[in-house]
Amino acid sequence: MKKVIVIGSGFAGLSAASFMAKAGWDVTVLEKHDIPGGRARKLSEQGFTFDMGPSWYWMPDVFEHYFKQFGKKVSDYYELTRLDPSYRVYFNEGHFDIPANYEDLKKLFESIEKGSGEKLDAFLKEAEFKYDVGINKLVHKPGLSVTEFLSWDLAKGVFKLDVFTSIKKHISKHFKDPRLQQLMEFPVLFLGALPQDTPALYSLMNYADIKLGTWYPQKGMYAVVEGMYKLAEELGVKFRFNSNVTSISINNKKATKVIVNGGTDYDADVVIGGADYHHVESQLLPEDYRTYTEQY
Ligand SMILES: Cc1cc2nc3c(=O)[nH]c(=O)nc-3n(C[C@H](O)[C@H](O)[C@H](O)COP(=O)(O)OP(=O)(O)OC[C@H]3O[C@@H](n4cnc5c(N)ncnc54)[C@H](O)[C@@H]3O)c2cc1C
Repeated sequence: MKKVIVIGSGFAGLSAASFMAKAGWDVTVLEKHDIPGGRARKLSEQGFTFDMGPSWYWMPDVFEHYFKQFGKKVSDYYELTRLDPSYRVYFNEGHFDIPANYEDLKKLFESIEKGSGEKLDAFLKEAEFKYDVGINKLVHKPGLSVTEFLSWDLAKGVFKLDVFTSIKKHISKHFKDPRLQQLMEFPVLFLGALPQDTPALYSLMNYADIKLGTWYPQKGMYAVVEGMYKLAEELGVKFRFNSNVTSISINNKKATKVIVNGGTDYDADVVIGGADYHHVESQLLPEDYRTYTEQY
């Protein structure tokens, strides 16, 4: 059986490990912390437990799609509840609760700006199209060959994705009240970019927010990590915690060994870096095998 070492047990590492196990590989995950989860791990102290990272669960279809590929459902691992109100938004003065029910949300929009309810319909119709093309037709492709992307439907779709206008402009064309504009611009913060620098394609995030909803996994976000971890174990993935990878050894241009805690080594036919790209590239790989210069 061919061996793969996965570095890190965040969502990326857990997911890569499970897919490799499903494909018949002998998988070992090396994680420097004593629990899985990475940025989404938990802190337990004096009888209290805190989620250390995420608090927003959006796009439940993406998680369902993940578990489905292993013949499972989200509900086999954790229980989701749709939040209502979805969240509360504070302005300099006052706040709004965002209702989960779409008709109630439209009423809220109308009470702030006359005519904005209908504009919201039009805005979200377009956003739904972008979500469908962006997530269902692009993100879920395996990405093994460019031919996957050669479909007429997709080509037409990509053309209508609005990648040349900013989301800020796109929103201001629909809504004039500054509070509504801010409300619609906020989901872009999840991309780590400013609305003026983000293509209007990302109104797909508004669709995810308003139509697909904000959810809460019972027992907290860490329930998602526990679910993905359990699935990986069921698939036979081995986990080694407190295992800080300090370097990757290259032999004949192939990664063949991973060194842990500066001593123990693990042989590998393939190494998958599930830690931050910059860390793997600039601290774990020997200099000759890095793709980018330090200056880059
Ligand atoms: C405060 C905060 C709030 C967030 N809020 C949200 C939210 O509301 N909704 C949302 O969807 N996302 C949110 N995110 C983003 C989300 O948490 C991350 O995108 C996601 O957890 C990243 O997963 P990852 O597997 O790519 O990386 P990581 O979780 O960073 O996983 C990398 C793993 O590799 C391990 N590792 C690193 N180097 C080594 C090494 N040398 N040897 C061994 N192991 C190593 C790390 O310990 C870690 O476990 C938030 C993030 C933070 C920090």
